[in-house]
Amino acid sequence: MHEAMFIRSEEFGTIPVRPRDCPLCGSDNRDAPAGRYSRAPWPVKECPACGFVYIDRAPEFEVQFETMAWERTTKVEERRRAELRPFSYKASKRTRFRMHLLPKRTVLGYVASRIRAGNLLDLGCGDGQAMASFPDSFIPYGIEISMEVAAIADRKFRARGGYAINAACIDGLRRFPDGFFAAASLRSYLEHEAEPLPVLQQLARALAPGGFAVVKVPNYGSLNRRIMGSRWCGFRYPDHLNYFTPATLREMAARAGFATSYGLTGRLPTSDNIWAILAKPSAEDERRV
Ligand SMILES: [Zn+2]
Repeated sequence: MHEAMFIRSEEFGTIPVRPRDCPLCGSDNRDAPAGRYSRAPWPVKECPACGFVYIDRAPEFEVQFETMAWERTTKVEERRRAELRPFSYKASKRTRFRMHLLPKRTVLGYVASRIRAGNLLDLGCGDGQAMASFPDSFIPYGIEISMEVAAIADRKFRARGGYAINAACIDGLRRFPDGFFAAASLRSYLEHEAEPLPVLQQLARALAPGGFAVVKVPNYGSLNRRIMGSRWCGFRYPDHLNYFTPATLREMAARAGFATSYGLTGRLPTSDNIWAILAKPSAEDERRV
């Protein structure tokens, strides 16, 4: 791991950050040129070795805990974008509203089509609202880095037999036994994570054989990113540290021991998001190998 360094950012003042090697292949790209989507002081790099796109530094965990909780950075970023282009910002908000009226994929939909009951983990669970729609046969657990909302989720989950942990996901995951979970939800989470591969490896351990994770991340391979460039809605500095394509998500998941499937509609270039199922091999799969 590299030494932390201090940088100055307009929004947050002087904060400690840690340089990141490529989260997919581990290459040290600190000397590689910053790509066209960089915004000082956040260089966006495309790994010359494997093609993964990422911000090559991340705020230290303590900073994320305190001054940079996601809710706050999201607000800062929304304000920045609103000021930058008031018209397209309003238009995209209207579009999003319209989209909400259409049937769409949900974590509940994916999970309930595969299993009827079990321990369910929500990584980056926020205030726990996403688990509210699940039937009582599912016991909700969560890990959330923001202290305030983690406490709200914990109250909700305890009433249903589970609980929420206030920690970075990698640390929270280590507290669960092997094979504890039937399924996990990684909805709008993995793009924030400074160490996505170690988290996926820990998750593979904590899932039961045959267990699976439902993953939703922004689709860097989308047409919209190509058309909108740096104005694409998937760019958030420095909240979104990782920019996945269907190919790089599949490759990272494979390195953690998962088989990835996208179904018919999980990786459409016309969608700003990727939906994927990361499956851990069942005991039967393992015997076959
Ligand atoms: Zn790489």
